[in-house]
Amino acid sequence: MRILSNETPEKVGKEVELSGWVDARRDHGKLIFVDLRDRTGTIQLVFNAKDEVTYKVAEALRPEWVIKVEGKVGERPAGMRNDDLPTGTVEIGVAKIEVLSQAETLPFDISGDGYEINEEIRMKYRYLDLRRRRMRRNILLRHKTSQFVRNYLTAEGFVEIETPILTKSTPEGARDFIVPSRLQQGKFYALPQSPQQYKQLLMVAGFEKYFQIARTFRDEDPRADRAYGEFTQLDMEMSFVTQEDILSITENLFTKLVKEIFPEKHITKAPWPRIPHKEAIEKYGTDKPDLRVDKGDPNELAFSWTIDFPLFTEQSEKDFFHGSGSAKFAPSHHMFTAPHPDDIPLLDSDPTRVRGLQHDLVLNGFEVGGGSVRIHQPKIQEKVFELIGFNKIQKDQFAHMLEAFTYGVPPHGGIAPGLDRFIMVVLGEPSIREVIAFPATSGGSVAVMDAPSEVDNKQLDELGLALKKKTK
Ligand code: ASP
Repeated sequence: MRILSNETPEKVGKEVELSGWVDARRDHGKLIFVDLRDRTGTIQLVFNAKDEVTYKVAEALRPEWVIKVEGKVGERPAGMRNDDLPTGTVEIGVAKIEVLSQAETLPFDISGDGYEINEEIRMKYRYLDLRRRRMRRNILLRHKTSQFVRNYLTAEGFVEIETPILTKSTPEGARDFIVPSRLQQGKFYALPQSPQQYKQLLMVAGFEKYFQIARTFRDEDPRADRAYGEFTQLDMEMSFVTQEDILSITENLFTKLVKEIFPEKHITKAPWPRIPHKEAIEKYGTDKPDLRVDKGDPNELAFSWTIDFPLFTEQSEKDFFHGSGSAKFAPSHHMFTAPHPDDIPLLDSDPTRVRGLQHDLVLNGFEVGGGSVRIHQPKIQEKVFELIGFNKIQKDQFAHMLEAFTYGVPPHGGIAPGLDRFIMVVLGEPSIREVIAFPATSGGSVAVMDAPSEVDNKQLDELGLALKKKTK
């Protein structure tokens, strides 16, 4: 039965079977050394010229061939040990070898970090790029992070619930991706910019504590920390909570997560500083200040909250929120964010001075999440719709929310930290593409598969669509 390379140190003197990739080969005359790589690391194989059959195969081995070997685990001679390797005290004297598959020379080197390699080529051959140790580590830490979140929130009474991907637009300030409907020609789904409305409806449904490691879609122009396309966020919503509760649950979750999954990291300050928006702008010139004490320290994590945002931002006609053309105000966060209770009278007299119960989660100068306490009074929701210039048709699109809120809605609120973004910042990676297995390239194509692609006329016909003119 196959064992893994990291099990070999406990198997000295035993016959074992191992499989994996040829990481490197070194010829030393009568001996050939091969580093065999599997998902746990590498182990040194030794081929002796006295065994002509195996030696001959070893001579032909090339990097990245897939092999299976049998042999005995031996202690390495003193002086030949490698203390930097978990398996550095042992080696396998190979008695039998089988080549399972050969490999062409890879299009790039996978032994290093790979930052210097052209990103398009890395993406085209992402399945090879993912073989490099750094990428493997990133993906594994991401897995551990999601796993921790699931376990932690479940223990806290949260329920993981999936929400539709083929759905209707919930404006979050970005452009929607749309998908044409075949069954209802001329109509389109929007991919969710977030599960915002569904999670609020789950509160009306009485679940009280919801989370989802949710995929969200935003057709934004690519930026370094915001790859175009799809993102993963830890979407959460809770009923009967105050803003204080939301902040403290989030703070506990991330504090414990860092301790468990990233023990080498330290958090600059606890409890996390809470900075009113106005103060942040005045003092730091940004609403996402980098509060690290030593910016050269890769292990420092400075979390903070930015709170007391103005509920609205003023805007000129041309950049009007969601394209309706005329209103002076756009929501700072989104249109379901509750006004500060003390400021409700200002909705009529001076909307610019209304503070929203919004909270942004900031880490080392990056906004890694945002959320809010929500409006749960239909009257206030309608007032906000009015202020952001919703006409009747637009209001009707959210009629289901207003109706739902007439059947007994608990006060509720939530947050959605971006998982890609969080892991990028914690690992000090320059882009979220470094922590996503198959990200879109900065040009908007999806790695390996070369999406988007053209469709044939038959498919367009079925959808009742025709292309205006062919775009390349
Ligand atoms: N829906 C918001 C977002 O995706 C998060 C929230 O308000 O909970 O940014």
